[in-house]
Amino acid sequence: MEERNEQPPVRAFGNVTVDPLSVAEPAHDLEIEEILDCDTGEYLDVRTWISSWRYDQVVELRSAIRERLDRSPWFRCSLCSVSVYLASNHYKRFYFKHQREDGSCPAQTRNPLSRDEILARKYHGQRESKPHRDIKALIARSLAADPRYVDVQQERQWRSSHDPSSRRQPDVQATGPMGRLAFEVQLSTTFLDVVVARRAFYRENGGLLVWVMGRFDPEYRRLTTDDLLFNNNSNILIVDEETAALSERTGQFQVHCHFRRPVHKGDTLADEWDSALIPFDTLTCERDRQRCWHYDYEGEAAKLRALIESERAAQEAATADALRSALFAFWIAREPNTRPDAGTLAAWADLRRAFAGHNIELPQAPDDDSSLVALLNGIVSAKEGRPVGWGFRHLVEVGHRIADAYKQHVAAFGHALRHFGTAELVNSQDRSGKWKERRQIMRGSLERGETDYLPDRATLALVGFLMPGVQEKLEKLALKEPA
Ligand SMILES: [Zn+2]
Repeated sequence: MEERNEQPPVRAFGNVTVDPLSVAEPAHDLEIEEILDCDTGEYLDVRTWISSWRYDQVVELRSAIRERLDRSPWFRCSLCSVSVYLASNHYKRFYFKHQREDGSCPAQTRNPLSRDEILARKYHGQRESKPHRDIKALIARSLAADPRYVDVQQERQWRSSHDPSSRRQPDVQATGPMGRLAFEVQLSTTFLDVVVARRAFYRENGGLLVWVMGRFDPEYRRLTTDDLLFNNNSNILIVDEETAALSERTGQFQVHCHFRRPVHKGDTLADEWDSALIPFDTLTCERDRQRCWHYDYEGEAAKLRALIESERAAQEAATADALRSALFAFWIAREPNTRPDAGTLAAWADLRRAFAGHNIELPQAPDDDSSLVALLNGIVSAKEGRPVGWGFRHLVEVGHRIADAYKQHVAAFGHALRHFGTAELVNSQDRSGKWKERRQIMRGSLERGETDYLPDRATLALVGFLMPGVQEKLEKLALKEPA
């Protein structure tokens, strides 16, 4: 502040001469840091605003601001709402001064305000701006044009029904087909706290709070607009000259609604902006959530997400199905006990890679692991209803082979017979009753929690992939392993 009163050190006489085309400079120490532009309803940072002009422009602006001071002030202090004008110090640096300096502005008393106090003051200050007054009047005009809305009032208190000391002063209020309504104009600076506090008040008092904007550009949204947008099912209501004229012409309160519409883009959900001119009373009003919207973004987005998810699942199932079939086909075509040729190895490498994508590891070559060969022989034989991979004549012989030499795969083979519907075939081939006998022995052993026939844990994922649903059943057996 001292700077303003000091004489410039470099020149003892006269003034500092500034190049008119240079950038205007704010004074170092500003009393008023932020101002309200009453023409736009925007809050401006004084330093940024001054530096956005050339020196010659600011000198001109000074007069324009002065001239409007008593009529309709251009700028006001953000903390006390007193009109302000632009002054310059000896360095030809600029700053804003209150029109009335009575020392009551928190900026002068230097009493720090709480964040809530600052927000409340700025919120009230904004009501002095021209856009705010204009939109308020347009809402009142629109309501007055529609005979179904009565008690249309501006800036009147709404007292809480159960706590007389609690009250709000909505910009406009009215009673219509959907009950008692409070309209609040939203400019750039309605803070989320204010939005939340107001919503709670009207919910408790049986009213519906409706936020209205004067214009909306989906490509240029402030966070404060998003606070309203996303709390209102992605709908924004606009009242402007066009809608007010339409309301008067039709005798029905009309609003312009901007909303997000979910669209199916590739395999994800994207948004498109849409808008519609609609009668206010056709909006969906939710008093409990204090929402008021035209297009059900949430509902439509949920439906679309479910559709995308089911498409994704179907795609995944088709991919898994194709991979299963490919492995089965490979195993059926494979020539056992011969050294695989290059084509066979390449086909196996492809399968191996694809299974790795499902976190299932297959051996380097199809014959590398005799236990795995036996498992696949068993499953594919059960699927085909005939021995595959072994030179037997009957499927029941496959069962005996596994029970003899690969006890860890007996349970998987048993499930494969049921899974592919070939259990009866094996039973019909069991003339001697030996298979039936063995099955009882194996079941008894597993039920007693003995380890003889416990499934091989390392193969459970592969078994589950080849026979969906079987992995869970085998895991239950594998868990029975005694301590
Ligand atoms: Zn002030």
